[in-house]
Amino acid sequence: MGNLVAIVGRPNVGKSTLFNRLTQSRQAIVNEQAGTTRDRQYGKCEWLGKEFSVVDTGGWVVNSDDVFEEEICKQVMLAIDEADVILFVVDIVNGITDLDLEVANILRRSKTPIIVVANKTDNNDLQYNAAEFYSLGLGDPFCISALSGSGTGDLLDLILSKFRKETGEILEDDIPRFAVVGRPNAGKSSIINAFIGEDRNIVTEIAGTTRDSIYTRYDKFGFNFYLVDTAGIRKKNKVTEDLEYYSVVRSIRSIENSDVCILMLDATRGIESQDLNIFSLVLRNQKGLVVVINKWDLVEEKSNKTMKTYEDAVRKRLAPFTDFPIIFASALTKQRIFKVLESAQEVYKARNTRIPTARLNEELLPLIEAYPPPSNKGKYIKIKYITQLPNTRVPSFVFFANLPQYVKEPYRRFLENKIRERWKLSGTPINIFIRQK
Ligand code: GDP
Ligand code: GDP
Repeated sequence: MGNLVAIVGRPNVGKSTLFNRLTQSRQAIVNEQAGTTRDRQYGKCEWLGKEFSVVDTGGWVVNSDDVFEEEICKQVMLAIDEADVILFVVDIVNGITDLDLEVANILRRSKTPIIVVANKTDNNDLQYNAAEFYSLGLGDPFCISALSGSGTGDLLDLILSKFRKETGEILEDDIPRFAVVGRPNAGKSSIINAFIGEDRNIVTEIAGTTRDSIYTRYDKFGFNFYLVDTAGIRKKNKVTEDLEYYSVVRSIRSIENSDVCILMLDATRGIESQDLNIFSLVLRNQKGLVVVINKWDLVEEKSNKTMKTYEDAVRKRLAPFTDFPIIFASALTKQRIFKVLESAQEVYKARNTRIPTARLNEELLPLIEAYPPPSNKGKYIKIKYITQLPNTRVPSFVFFANLPQYVKEPYRRFLENKIRERWKLSGTPINIFIRQK
């Protein structure tokens, strides 16, 4: 079960510096293989073998000097709704401001564990200033310097200790977990209603370990799966849902707790940054993906050609990852609703594909011999052996080569495409590693 830590506070206290510090080491690892760009808002942190997500709620504001108080208060409320632990960052050099007091007022009403982080404690003398933060009424301030990193290790220990103990949600391991994600008004609630309706015979609510995480078990018409966080999607939060980042932060937990994400796009609107943000969250968490072009009933001129044009445009926009099913559906008329579930199940299978080593080598080595990696500085690169790693989240393949450092991205992509062509892996990310033989 994924844990989420939210960083809140007024501008310039050091939220983004702290975010970078917490996510840096881990991000470097992710970047090596996925080639994703870092963003300010969302990242992973690993400490003592435990991984959790971090969001910098301030990261969505482009120019943080002009933020309105109201905006900051909304960010804080969102954090209360979504996070397992909130880091309330204050500035030990400048002390408490009116805005700090306002944020503290909101935070005091929440039940979410809060740590007051007294940032910019660059030297020991400054620690004496921390006493004033007791007046925020949120417990002991914790002194750190996000810039130098001092105190951040102890802060991480404290964060881990605040995570709820897992009470063991009883889910069957081999039953897929699907999450419906997308921006507000894309049709998430509608499609969930179309799936499960109000029919009590189809669904069973299973109370989750964390407040809002509820898996709904679906078992009918040959489908057997869990839907993640249906209650959270159906329950709307009017305060925050108009914000650009709302749907993104709201999606994090659902995505992390799923195997396959059903990404809802609105056929009557183009793909915008919100859609792209959610899409990239799915990929960064290495989840399976089915894209639903919803509200297809509203598209007037429908032919195979319109679909093809639309589909091409979507794939182009979401490139370089383009190998996933796209379903044109209507949650309203229920057109192709079962097709969506069928695709999600296929993607789940693809994500769990195991290819025997013998078959990998038989099928790929001749191809590689015919199209070897281009030589580099006069050196020939030879790939000798391929195997799939056991027990990984997504299919991961290791190619053993004499000079792995010379195998460049285009060739890696070529290998990935060949694997995708031969084995049906639509909808699942895959990893390709080139290693020294
Ligand atoms: P945000 O607006 O809350 O995200 O704040 P930033 O992370 O952008 O930091 C605002 C300014 O404070 C930047 O100039 C940072 O370099 C500086 N800053 C952040 N953390 C520290 C720290 O621990 N010590 C000092 N001296 N400066 C810091
Ligand atoms: P959510 O915010 O993603 O949960 O979106 P909702 O399910 O609440 O849908 C937003 C609006 O779009 C509602 O007015 C729905 O009735 C409408 N809607 C959802 N799906 C469809 C569809 O397939 N066709 C049409 N015409 N309207 C839809």
